[in-house]
Amino acid sequence: MERVYLDNNATTMVDPLVTEAMQPFFTQMYGNPNSLHSFGTEVHPYMGIALDRLYAGINASDEDDIIITSCASEGNNNVIKSVYFDCFMNHRKMQMITSAIEHPSVSQVYLFLEKLGVDVKWLPVNSQGIIDPEELKAAIDPDRTALVSIMWANNETGLINPVKEYAEICHENGVKLHIDGVQAVGKIPVDMQDVRADYLTFSAHKFHGPKGVGGLYVRKNANLIPLLHGGEQMGGLRAGTVDTPYMIGMGLAMELAVKNIEYENKEVRRLRNKLEDALLDIDDVEVIGERSLRTPNTILASFRGVEGEAFLWDLNQKGVAASTGSACSSESLESNPTFVAMDIGSDLSHTGMRFSLSRYTTEDEIDYAIDAVKTSVKRLREISSTGDKGYI
Ligand code: PLP
Repeated sequence: MERVYLDNNATTMVDPLVTEAMQPFFTQMYGNPNSLHSFGTEVHPYMGIALDRLYAGINASDEDDIIITSCASEGNNNVIKSVYFDCFMNHRKMQMITSAIEHPSVSQVYLFLEKLGVDVKWLPVNSQGIIDPEELKAAIDPDRTALVSIMWANNETGLINPVKEYAEICHENGVKLHIDGVQAVGKIPVDMQDVRADYLTFSAHKFHGPKGVGGLYVRKNANLIPLLHGGEQMGGLRAGTVDTPYMIGMGLAMELAVKNIEYENKEVRRLRNKLEDALLDIDDVEVIGERSLRTPNTILASFRGVEGEAFLWDLNQKGVAASTGSACSSESLESNPTFVAMDIGSDLSHTGMRFSLSRYTTEDEIDYAIDAVKTSVKRLREISSTGDKGYI
């Protein structure tokens, strides 16, 4: 076995059907979709098909908007800053609520807004790693809360939050809800007519689409102030020529991801459980979060007495790609927000290692990875007493 890719929460392989579908739009149908000549107009129907696939994939209503963005980080920035601008312009309520375990493209925006004087409430996770709806209820001040941002599924643990309940609570209190759906789309059903949130962000490269393109769902009447001004693209909500090949690729990737949800929840879950059972067989290994509450592809395991960098290096030497944290933050354990929020390993004697599978993961790869992890943990524990770091 040459290499085993178990870092699909960082990014995924593009489905070959997707790359094939994108090709003509680089060299044959390359017109600017806003041009009125045939080079432009011939591209339009394909953008329509892509949008239809995105709407169907998240069960959005025709009256809602989906804006094509460059990534989910852009979508998250846009929603939060839009609500801030709206409050600022209308001298309105300025409290916002988020959680302790958000991706940096949400948490860093809130840290920035705090510097501008916004009162940000940071909800903790409960002992199961979930944000308790009761905590949200208690934190909302109907007179001051303008926005709530909570992720659907966590990128590190895969833990799924009860977003439908959040939507009901926010709705009852007249507060807008923004959900980061990046780790949910393609792994669990995402139905925006069932979960009545105002905004949802997603990113093609997390569901076997290309990098550099994402979507921002905006419910009818939710309002969005553009982050990028300067053109009428996306109904004036995002200036800039749309990356047509990437948008078309994302549309197909969404359709394929939704078609594969059942496979993801049966076969990928079975392989994930096999790997998880084998990890739990090793002494002093714990998995964070109840299995049934997690996305079917994710394991965040805590290894006692194994140094993180050495472990990652060792696994990489054996061709196994895993991750000690979000690819967007530093690789150190201290920066793993779930470990901090759940108060795990505060003595730094634990290493959190994330293994995330995809529909391309095979049984042979899982068997190989189990072997590699067992050998590595054994070796690193043996040498830890010598003071040797275990890598060059
Ligand atoms: N939100 C979550 C939960 C993520 O896992 C990620 C990427 O890791 C992002 C947002 C950012 O996505 P993008 O890479 O499209 O900016």
